[in-house]
Amino acid sequence: MVREPILGHMIDEELDRELRPRRMKDMVGQREVAARIEIAVDAARKRQEVLGHILFDGPPGLGKTTFATVIPRDLGVPFQIASGAALKAPKDLVPYLTNAEEGSVLFIDEIHRMPKAVEEFLYPAMEDFRIDITLGEGINARTINMPLKPFTLIGATTRTGLLSAPLRDRFIMREHLEFYTVAELAEIVRRNASKLQVEITDEAADEIASRSRGTPRLANNRLRWVRDYTTSRADGRITLDVARAALEMQGIDALGLDNQDRKYLETIIRVFDGGPVGVEAVAHTINTAVDTLTDEVEPFLLRSELVIRTPRGRCVTTAGYNHLGIQPPPPANRERAKKKNATPEADDNQPSLF
Ligand code: ADP
Repeated sequence: MVREPILGHMIDEELDRELRPRRMKDMVGQREVAARIEIAVDAARKRQEVLGHILFDGPPGLGKTTFATVIPRDLGVPFQIASGAALKAPKDLVPYLTNAEEGSVLFIDEIHRMPKAVEEFLYPAMEDFRIDITLGEGINARTINMPLKPFTLIGATTRTGLLSAPLRDRFIMREHLEFYTVAELAEIVRRNASKLQVEITDEAADEIASRSRGTPRLANNRLRWVRDYTTSRADGRITLDVARAALEMQGIDALGLDNQDRKYLETIIRVFDGGPVGVEAVAHTINTAVDTLTDEVEPFLLRSELVIRTPRGRCVTTAGYNHLGIQPPPPANRERAKKKNATPEADDNQPSLF
């Protein structure tokens, strides 16, 4: 039996129902991760045991939620969805845990945002399927153990580094999701164009894919925009020219960088002489949250080697300069910039200069 979540956010809003794959076999890419999960799911089903807890990590939009929702569907068990940010105190977690049916899945998105007290409350629930509830206060306080039905916890995080070791260690499987290849994204674009009932040429699908920064969520967003553009400005069929014109109108360049990505690179070059510079200083200068830069902007720029991270901070590479069409400074100037900008705050964990 497949049941939609009984608690948590409205599934329609959260799950992008139209385009999100519903079964593992409908997912594209992440073959190694999918193969390991399929083995674990198959073994749990054959032994009629509860699947072990799984943690997914990786940048936003790569399929963590998708994995977390296809697994219970493939297993045929109910699932609930919670968000780490909304679990402010242990009592917020209690209804999810007591409602969890035997073998069901509880998915906690952004699990790194749970406060320490909630995390600690979760340990016995994950390990021994029980919770410890304290009743009363002061000398009258007593703790009762409440047994839970064995369930599977699936956690998702953009920052494994922020999870405490005891929480991380309680996950039996830890899977890291990587950026997708252009061919994989093109396949997603073609499949979703067909779901959205819009005709698309192979070249146009490749173009949208290559401008999607390795991220299925961006490929879907770009496809939706190109579809709107083609309905309004063209004949409803997505061709290479239409796709390019639509994406250029949104400021998405040939590598898939958007205005924010370019602003980040330009700021490091213009204000900080190409770096090294701490991420906080860049975030303050362009008036953006540090988390947005570290979670959404930097992973792809680092992977594309347009930026590198050094112990003294971020530096734009020669490829980064070239991408923006800016002449890289001679090595002597870069050495000077290194000395000028080098401060302890270049380390991510240090407080800001400003
Ligand atoms: P995350 O939870 O990592 O932020 P999601 O699972 O919400 O990412 O994925 C964002 C969107 O990208 C989904 O709605 C889905 O349509 C699409 N998507 C993600 N992974 C895949 C995949 N492997 N195959 C096809 N589409 C995918």
